Amino acid sequence: MNLHEYQSKELFLNAGIPILKGAVALSSIKAKTVAEQLGGDVWVIKAQVHAGGRGKAGGVKITNNIDEVESIASSMLGSNLITKQTDRNGLPVDCVYVECGTEIRSEFYLSLLVDRAKESWTFIASSEGGVDIEAVADETPNKILKYTVNPIEGLNEAELSHMATELGFVNETVIEFIDITTKLFLLAKQTDANLIEINPLIIDSTDHLIALDSKITIDSNALFRQEVLMHYKDPNQENAL
Ligand code: ADP
Ligand code: MG
Repeated sequence: MNLHEYQSKELFLNAGIPILKGAVALSSIKAKTVAEQLGGDVWVIKAQVHAGGRGKAGGVKITNNIDEVESIASSMLGSNLITKQTDRNGLPVDCVYVECGTEIRSEFYLSLLVDRAKESWTFIASSEGGVDIEAVADETPNKILKYTVNPIEGLNEAELSHMATELGFVNETVIEFIDITTKLFLLAKQTDANLIEINPLIIDSTDHLIALDSKITIDSNALFRQEVLMHYKDPNQENAL
């Protein structure tokens, strides 16, 4: 079962994984109200569909004009968003996520997935974030870092620290990276997720790590014991595929 970005971010918030302030809106008026409540002077309006590649397809728009929040949301809501990851019909945009805008110093890729072949979990990370990770894997495979967790020993902080250093993190960002990956690991186990992806994980202008995008897939076979997550199911997205 796929979760929307806003749902994944709810789980991130509860897990203590740093995200920006934001809220979901089902109407353009509500989108503007959310922006007013968030405050600040830059907002990002993000179409909520079960597919990535929204940025390049017009599904992620940034503005510093609060009235535009409403008009952008209005143009997204009710439309079908076609991205590189959808079929040619696209997916219906029933809600948007309105989030504070941030400056981005650099973008990274980070994911944690169930590695069936290795009967464990694997972290995948890259300093080439924000872009199509498959293209990075094809063109510059040396830029993809992997750490498979030893299922008996569990998470090894030294491995996470090594990964952080390989990504180019220093000082406080190494500590933040270890904190985020440790929390991701706990969250994945608690929610029976088989994939949690953060693309991009960014360093902001104050040198802190933030999960700017998030995608979680829950193992459908485990839903019987994840009742609280069942309300995240969105048949409109699933039937459209
Ligand atoms: P997708 O992966 O579907 O294209 P993302 O959430 O990754 O959607 O957004 C695409 C890009 O938009 C990001 O790589 C980032 O550069 C920018 N972006 C997303 N959210 C914000 C934000 N809150 N503030 C500033 N830029 C953002
Ligand atoms: Mg993304």
